[in-house]
Amino acid sequence: MTAYEIISKKRDGRTLTRNEIHFFINEFLKGNIEDYQMTALLMSIYFGGMDEQEIFALTESYIDSGNTIDLSDIPGKKVDKHSTGGVGDKVSIILAPLAASLGVIVPMISGRGLGHTGGTLDKLESITGFRVFGEVKDFKKQLSDIGVAMFGQTDSIVPADRTIYALRDVTATIESIPLITASIMSKKIAEGIDGLVLDVKYGNGAFMTEPDRAELLAKNLIDVGAAFGKKVVAYLTSMEQPLGFKVGNWLEIEECIDVLHGNGPRDLLDLTLTLTSEMLIIAGKAGTSEQARELCTRAIGNGDAYHKFVEMVKYQGGNVNLVESPEKYQRARFSGIVESDRAGIVTSFDTRETGLISVELGAGRKKAEDQVDPQAGIIFFKKIGDKVEINEPIAEIHSNKPNIIEHMKKRIMKAIEIKVEIDKVPELILKKIE
Ligand code: URA
Repeated sequence: MTAYEIISKKRDGRTLTRNEIHFFINEFLKGNIEDYQMTALLMSIYFGGMDEQEIFALTESYIDSGNTIDLSDIPGKKVDKHSTGGVGDKVSIILAPLAASLGVIVPMISGRGLGHTGGTLDKLESITGFRVFGEVKDFKKQLSDIGVAMFGQTDSIVPADRTIYALRDVTATIESIPLITASIMSKKIAEGIDGLVLDVKYGNGAFMTEPDRAELLAKNLIDVGAAFGKKVVAYLTSMEQPLGFKVGNWLEIEECIDVLHGNGPRDLLDLTLTLTSEMLIIAGKAGTSEQARELCTRAIGNGDAYHKFVEMVKYQGGNVNLVESPEKYQRARFSGIVESDRAGIVTSFDTRETGLISVELGAGRKKAEDQVDPQAGIIFFKKIGDKVEINEPIAEIHSNKPNIIEHMKKRIMKAIEIKVEIDKVPELILKKIE
């Protein structure tokens, strides 16, 4: 068996065996297969796809490349949530403590911002002192003690994905359903979960813009989960506009605190309740969605979810005073109000562009080594379907970079479409896939 034979087989549209896939990944990690050969295979997979068995074998070979976390000695069902990424998507930060406050064990391993999308780790780190890295034993101890831990991926978990993802990123092979499936599911399965709720985004702010492609991805993710004996449920949800009103690291934490206090934007609350409810059902804490939603609403109303969040922040070294009094957080040095240049109804957002503007303001990275600015970001005042008057404030931008505010205000205005009438407000939650 040689790398050349395996590449040419996939190039010609044939199906690879489990042995061939394992051989290729192992030999690549040992340095016996070159980056350009891996890239040729990735591009062949991009064009030729993979069947269910191949995707399973690829996921398995990714998992086998490193350590897995064994959580079997911690009592209770371990359920996580994963989102394919978007703008203003801060659901995890509310959902993890909410589910944990209701008895679900939530071992959440999250990522950093990617391209125009934000990352949970960057948001959590905007809480001064919050640690997102630790040993597996720390992760397990925290789960046993308080039922929730939100960490970053360690080097020893699925190292194959880290190396191959970096290659995909520079060779235009990210947007391949088999490759995304193996990448996501290997990391989730290595975490030691029993079940997973997926939020698969579609729309102009998502990596998969078309709902059909997003649905196909969701089905692949569910099938691979099932093949590993995990209960996986997916929702297809819209990224046609930023989720909630705030985009940016600390700004999003502020919005999460609002929701945990029973306030906050309706779309963010609705999606959080829907996804958390599925976690409760998978964990056997509720029998129906109605029951689960009622439990979640009560845990927010009586402060349990907020207190679990504070407990987690304290456990991970974060400054609880800032969570208790968000108004004490230092603001960015520069800010500006975007006033609408016309009257009408907001009909659409260029959501990807709003994410890119947020990166430009400092909230994300243009290069892997860039530092994110916790204070930078955007506060929107309008959602699709809202009326706007001329000169009415529609957004506020924050940055520590001098001389960019005026230009960014113009970019924001261009990213929001305002017309005299609207056909249809996009639905946030398109469908559930089991
Ligand atoms: N997120 C991942 O973890 N992997 C992918 O391939 C795409 C998004």
